[in-house]
Amino acid sequence: MFYEGESAGQKKIIPGVKADMMGKYPLLPAFSALFFILFMRRVFLCHAGYAKEQLRTYIATICFYEPCIFLMTVALPNIMNLTFRELQNALASFGEPDYRAVQIHQWLFSRHAASFDDMTILSRALRKKLSETFEISPVQIIDHRESSEEDCDSPTEKILVKLPDNEMVESVLIASSGRTTACVSSQVGCALQCPFCATGRMGLRRNLSAGEITGQIYALNNLIAAKEPERKITNIVFMGMGEPLLNYENVIEAIETLSSKNYRFCLSQKKITISTVGVTPEIQRLARSGMKTKLAVSIHAADQQKRHSIMPVASGLYPLKELAVSLAEYTSLTGMPVTLVYMLMKGINDSPEDARALARFARSFLCKINLIDYNSIINVKFKPVYSATRDMFQRSLMDSGLHVTVRKSYGTTINAACGQLATTGMQNRNNL
Ligand code: SF4
Repeated sequence: MFYEGESAGQKKIIPGVKADMMGKYPLLPAFSALFFILFMRRVFLCHAGYAKEQLRTYIATICFYEPCIFLMTVALPNIMNLTFRELQNALASFGEPDYRAVQIHQWLFSRHAASFDDMTILSRALRKKLSETFEISPVQIIDHRESSEEDCDSPTEKILVKLPDNEMVESVLIASSGRTTACVSSQVGCALQCPFCATGRMGLRRNLSAGEITGQIYALNNLIAAKEPERKITNIVFMGMGEPLLNYENVIEAIETLSSKNYRFCLSQKKITISTVGVTPEIQRLARSGMKTKLAVSIHAADQQKRHSIMPVASGLYPLKELAVSLAEYTSLTGMPVTLVYMLMKGINDSPEDARALARFARSFLCKINLIDYNSIINVKFKPVYSATRDMFQRSLMDSGLHVTVRKSYGTTINAACGQLATTGMQNRNNL
């Protein structure tokens, strides 16, 4: 399976005009800089006794023509990046009633309209106004790789998704035991920088909008349908790039859209898992939200000092003691168990004492434990454990009365498994 990403308290970013413009017109800053340099040169020449008339012409150019050229080339904001509330506000500013936002949201996220002209339910005047104000730019799949697995119905697929501003994220599709699980990203990169994770090595670039998160699912579903029309996504896990709980609002809005009953793609929230390293304030928020999603927490060590050595940023921000309190609160408020994900790393967190510490930690709330193998990434020193060590670890936990499963990693040969996402994306970015 895949590994979730995390990132610390960065502010929410909704890509707007500037981000779109930079994506579409990457040379604009270079031209502006060139213009500025030429202007300064002219000022210098003027001071040196050259034509003042020419300088006046130049100032007129800077003050009038350049802004005109700038305004003509600015791309419109992408309507798919608006939250539902922002869409409502935009339509209110046009003097439209609230239900228009509902209609347009459905056209965008259920009927997947490619242009405002497709939205035939709207008046011609409103369609014109919308197309003068916004553009529709969905995410695009630009690459995908497959790896065949022994016990899978179809190959595991790693998909490179290009966002409208040319950032990239990776998503994964796994078909196993009659289910098709989509593992999606919530951020470009990750701020928490766990040393064993390829995503963490990118650092955080930005949050995904709710529209970009849902866009990944729709794109993956179309990919499946193109090959097997009867098959579709049955489960979603937020275990791709980024820490979903550090992009809380957009992730929750995306889940609400994906579980909207009157939309063409609709999945029960119970089939959706949010995976976190343990962002305690947001776990408490999720517990009170009324969402029915499942929660998985990457624990990897149940001793604070050891956990700090494995995932220093996350464990520093969200210490184990606070995490245990939030998880106890979460399970008592929701009545749902959490899944503790424990990645076994040879000689690091695989001893009998590590198993006893995990058992002590897990006893304080309703949970089950998933043991997973470490998946190698380049230039990282960790190693997976031998199967005998894993069996011993599992037996020790089960003897303590805990429910423990060993989760198989899929997609290791294409770097699609837990902790491996981002490597290919970075390589591709360099090649673009
Ligand atoms: S495992 Fe990777 S994606 Fe998850 S929190 Fe750590 S660095 Fe971020």
